[in-house]
Amino acid sequence: SYGIAIGKVFLLENPDFVLNNSDQVLEIEREKEIEKFQLAIEKTKESVRRSYEKINKALGQSYAKIADAHMMMLEDPMMKTSVLKMIEKGSKAEYAVYKTMSNILEAFSKMKDGYFRERSNDIRDLCQELIFNLLGKKRNSLANLPKDSIVVSHNLTAADTALMKEKTAQGFAIDIGGKTSHVALVANGLGIPAVSGLQNVSKNVKTGDTIILDGINGLVIINPDAQTIKKYEAQLQAWLEQKRQLISLAHLPSQTLDGQKVFLLANIDSPDEVKTVLENGAQGIGLYRSEFIYFHRSSWPTPKEHFEAYYKVVTQMQGKPVVIRTVDLGGDKLSNVLIEKIGYEQNPFLGLRAIRLCLKYPDMFEAQLLGLLQASAFGKIDILYPMISGLEQLQQASEILDKAKEKLRAKKIPFDENIKVGAMIEIPAAVMISDALAKHVDFFSIGTNDLIQYSIATDRGNESVADLYNPLHPAILKLIKITIDSANQAKIPVAMCGQMASNPLYTKILLGLGLKEFSVAKEQIPLIKKVIRETKVSDAKELAQKVLACQYQDEILELLSMDEIKESNK
Ligand code: PEP
Ligand code: MG
Repeated sequence: SYGIAIGKVFLLENPDFVLNNSDQVLEIEREKEIEKFQLAIEKTKESVRRSYEKINKALGQSYAKIADAHMMMLEDPMMKTSVLKMIEKGSKAEYAVYKTMSNILEAFSKMKDGYFRERSNDIRDLCQELIFNLLGKKRNSLANLPKDSIVVSHNLTAADTALMKEKTAQGFAIDIGGKTSHVALVANGLGIPAVSGLQNVSKNVKTGDTIILDGINGLVIINPDAQTIKKYEAQLQAWLEQKRQLISLAHLPSQTLDGQKVFLLANIDSPDEVKTVLENGAQGIGLYRSEFIYFHRSSWPTPKEHFEAYYKVVTQMQGKPVVIRTVDLGGDKLSNVLIEKIGYEQNPFLGLRAIRLCLKYPDMFEAQLLGLLQASAFGKIDILYPMISGLEQLQQASEILDKAKEKLRAKKIPFDENIKVGAMIEIPAAVMISDALAKHVDFFSIGTNDLIQYSIATDRGNESVADLYNPLHPAILKLIKITIDSANQAKIPVAMCGQMASNPLYTKILLGLGLKEFSVAKEQIPLIKKVIRETKVSDAKELAQKVLACQYQDEILELLSMDEIKESNK
């Protein structure tokens, strides 16, 4: 997590358990042991509930979902069955938990997928907490954290991390974890520097040591000399100044050096994020992913539940536009109800995902559209359909939308009669028919996250093929250009809400390809605005022309970096 901190260490010790099976329980004591295990599960659930509340308070619901995942693991029948079986064979509860969790951890650590490997930290956290509860011990806590300390630990729970802001920690360094670990996500959300994956930092410091936390380069310096401290103090000031400057841009116009207005919007996953969106100066919300409403429940959400979530966002946005994407479940976004209905698919990214799922379950889809329409009476809402690959899907979706509108009219419930409807362009087939699609929708939004994975045939979450997942692949740039040209020809707006739009390295080339609407991660808004304000569209167009003529990705990279060097020499 980006940033620099200089301060005193607060070492949070997290002992690693190594238990053995030497203490066997007698048969008559086994019932008691099972009871002890069940009590410990309940106690741990209670603390997970408390951490949900803490994270929810500090960061909002979307981060608090981390606690939901912990809750699901505690309720996992396979874990419970294994522990109970071992107790029945004579093991103590703590050993049965230790052994079961160690087996699960081993299986996770062998997984190829980085995301799953990261999840082993969650399991380790839970295992420790469960064993503490079984042994009736108290875990070290951050309650006594001195102001402005830097926390060092083997690992941290996401809830610990959420507490840091409240306890005014400057940042933290931990032995394990990678960029996508939950603690890293929470640290990012809090905007505090952090370094993870240091392997043995917790063994090399003691409370009270001076430490420099360099979240820019991913390193820590323990007990640095005076000269190093001086150097880092200067870097710290520069970083703080950069932050101040960026935030001071938040409310300046989003336009290029040669005066072209660029619409700068934010992506959100839950209503709790709106406050930061406004503080960072977004002109609206360009992508509101609605999946969170579908998670951790036993039936599809009702129109009322949809309405309440959307109402909360549009009213806070005070008339600024909000693009709400209809649900994109499937692929890597699974929910209990979905699994119950369709089970696990062999190839979920090519399966019953997003609009395909909605058209298969029209009642579920209609419930969302009813909620959306009702909320449209309270602010400016546009509807966005994900994963459109053909005109037929658009037609079927608009029939369901028309039916929902009819129902509301019959009940005299107000909604925006002119509500706009757009299509995500994130499948190569959609790009190739974008000229036809453009005649049937009010706007496009380019989803590069999926467009790249489907065009280059690279799983967006698989680190083994991460080198192939390249937004600057000549094919991707051409697909973007075709989409923008189709939209321009039909005179409809086109935005980009995929992650590519959030990366300042690509801002100029996207401007050059003719993009005028960027919907970006909320923290990136000031930085993207900075690049927009420093770019001339005429230069960007020239660059885009050269880039489109390239056949190799390296040529493109070279052109982009040469361009940056030329800029910095000016
Ligand atoms: C995309 O695919 O670029 C996109 C914005 O959608 P998601 O990341 O939710 O699939
Ligand atoms: Mg997508």
